[in-house]
Amino acid sequence: MNEIVCVSGVEHLMDYLEGVVPPDLRVKLEEHVAGCPRCTAFIASYCETPRILREATAATFTTNVESSLKAFLRTRTTAFRVS
Ligand SMILES: [Zn+2]
Repeated sequence: MNEIVCVSGVEHLMDYLEGVVPPDLRVKLEEHVAGCPRCTAFIASYCETPRILREATAATFTTNVESSLKAFLRTRTTAFRVS
């Protein structure tokens, strides 16, 4: 695997921040970021800026899960009552 540089690193960093990079690449990225103020700043700004949006998305997702879970539990509760 090539050495991580900032230009290619930014693409990988997006995946890294989403937690979808393989462990070996993750280690390479962490090594690079540890010695790279530019990437450290990038991660800091990336984590800060879309946080509100990500929280809003997470809230929507949680609502969907909650209603699905409630629907599921209603089904189960009915089944238990029947038996
Ligand atoms: Zn860098």
